Amino acid sequence: MDSDKAKSRIKELTNIINRHNYNYYVLADPKISDHEFDNLMEELILLERKYPELSDDNSPTKRVGGQVTKDFPTVKHKYPMLSLGNTYNRKDLTDFDNRIKKAIGNSYEYVCELKFDGVAIGLVYKNAKLVRAVTRGDGTQGDEVTNNVKTIKSIPLNLFQDNFDNNIVDEFEARGEIFMPHKSFIGLNNEKIKNNEQPFANPRNAAAGSLKIQESRIVSSRNLDCYIFSIIGEKLPYDNHYDNLKLAKKWGFKTSEFTKICKNIDEIFEYIDYWEKNRNDLDFDIDGVVIKINSIKQQEQLGYTSKSPRWAISYKFETEQTTTKLLDIKYQVGRTGAITPVAVLQPVKLSGTTVKRASLYNADKIEELNLHKNDTVKVEKGGEIIPKIVGIDQELREKNSDKIIYATHCPECGTELIRKAGESLHYCPNKNNCPPQILGKIEHFISRKAMNIESLGQGRTEILIKNGIIKNIADLYDLSFDKLYGLEKTITNVLDGKTKKISFKEKTVNNILKAVENSKSVPFERVLYALGIRYVGETVAKILAQHFKNIDNLIYCNYDELINVPEIGEKIADSIISFFKDEQNIEIINHLKNKGLQFEIEKELLEKKNNLNGMTFVVSGVFNNYSRQGIKDVIENNGGKVSSSISSKTNYLIAGNNMGPEKRKKAESLNIPIISERELDNLIKEN
Ligand SMILES: [Zn+2]
Repeated sequence: MDSDKAKSRIKELTNIINRHNYNYYVLADPKISDHEFDNLMEELILLERKYPELSDDNSPTKRVGGQVTKDFPTVKHKYPMLSLGNTYNRKDLTDFDNRIKKAIGNSYEYVCELKFDGVAIGLVYKNAKLVRAVTRGDGTQGDEVTNNVKTIKSIPLNLFQDNFDNNIVDEFEARGEIFMPHKSFIGLNNEKIKNNEQPFANPRNAAAGSLKIQESRIVSSRNLDCYIFSIIGEKLPYDNHYDNLKLAKKWGFKTSEFTKICKNIDEIFEYIDYWEKNRNDLDFDIDGVVIKINSIKQQEQLGYTSKSPRWAISYKFETEQTTTKLLDIKYQVGRTGAITPVAVLQPVKLSGTTVKRASLYNADKIEELNLHKNDTVKVEKGGEIIPKIVGIDQELREKNSDKIIYATHCPECGTELIRKAGESLHYCPNKNNCPPQILGKIEHFISRKAMNIESLGQGRTEILIKNGIIKNIADLYDLSFDKLYGLEKTITNVLDGKTKKISFKEKTVNNILKAVENSKSVPFERVLYALGIRYVGETVAKILAQHFKNIDNLIYCNYDELINVPEIGEKIADSIISFFKDEQNIEIINHLKNKGLQFEIEKELLEKKNNLNGMTFVVSGVFNNYSRQGIKDVIENNGGKVSSSISSKTNYLIAGNNMGPEKRKKAESLNIPIISERELDNLIKEN
């Protein structure tokens, strides 16, 4: 196939796949089998691999992920993302209706919509293409999460042109709510529990957490979904909200089939009544109903307060409540040493499930509730897996029952708990010897992005700690076949009560020992990340490794030196200093050094390469594979220079997403080549 033919086939495949994707994810009406769909996708992937220059940023192949977002830049919203006024009672709604009547007379209608419980998102489209996705943030500016949003199948990357008039909307913003359907949520949490990870409290947290994962491939696997609830722009096709939404569906957006026009306040109450009763039938969480004035002209007439529009209001559902008896309070010790109090309750039915435990959050909450032993408590469930105690029935309190006194010592290791000023949680300070904290450290150490000894995961680490075989990360390097072979334990799943036997068979033991051995060649930056210094994530570890070159330089550096490293702030600096002050940590590092782990940057990286010698670069925009600092480091480490403005001395302008138009103009006028980050990588390799 020649390049022209490939180009037209790629275009054709893109259109076909987009249409089938829409049929499946938006209309829930697939026209071909999954297998046929996969074949089309496979053909497109192969063609794009063969002709990378023809691959489009918004190709449907981007939905499977693969891009990495190092940090999520803050972006200002073109139209502020206001939140709506909230109400929990119908009197407020009647007042709202009266205010509208007074302001614009008797001729108006409402649109009622479900209030999805997820993460609000602003999707910017230019010339029918998705160019940017930004979270609400503080309403004025949010985080750009475009790569991750591209993996959500119900969000169109290219709009269907046959329904799209370029003259009307060459640029507009679609506002919507990204959420995690119940089915995806339950699957994800089961997986997390299986892997001994903390499950998400509710689908909203799961959706929010997923959007901020650096690897879009993982985001893609989370099966997020998105409903669009408004279209904003200068020249919208219709003069009312409802028709614009209907047209948006034809462009490719998923809009809710439950959106309804209501002529008056009684019809609004009917809509609310219906959904208050039937919301448990939906496969996603809603927490109320949104009521908007339909006419855009009337919306403009009504205008805005400083915080929210005057033409819309949200009605929140009451959450379901019941009462039961408090039997006990247990204190859970988390992997960071944080203590969470959990109420043990007399089992009681609530929204279709039996509730045995409730969250109590922290000591302040218990104090605020003035909780006594054996109290009768009011329990509420609001989309959370673990319900919460919201109040006490004072009249049913037993005579002379004692007030609950918060735990003073760690239930796992007996150490006295501490609570730092300004923090809500108590901590067990015994970082190195408290069993759940040891487990947390080791689990982090062996994780894939750290030392990659995952064959030791899935409950195995816990067995080793319980049997006293390992007490810290250094002990992993003293493991032997004889110490491991034959160990076993039965583990019960918290959610479904199913049991699973974990054992150390010959093959497993050999795999573990091999992974431990292999980990000795893991590069310094990952070893540094694996140590689990608070606030030192992958990116910070990389920066520190490149700056300090070896562990001793880092151990003996002082606060001022640290704080002068780009991207290292006070919080990180404090945490690093206190980590290396702890003699036990130094002892562990010395032990690891003796075992042959990498504690200095590789020689090859140490000697600066000169592939870009004598070249000057200007960097503009946001990059997929580099942070702003990262791309500068790469250029400088290869002998190049980075300049902030374009002149005749500039050799290349490296263009990222959303590059400034002035820079492009200047570069073009001086005939300076504009290259992508990929072309920069090639330049480094070639020279
Ligand atoms: Zn403890």
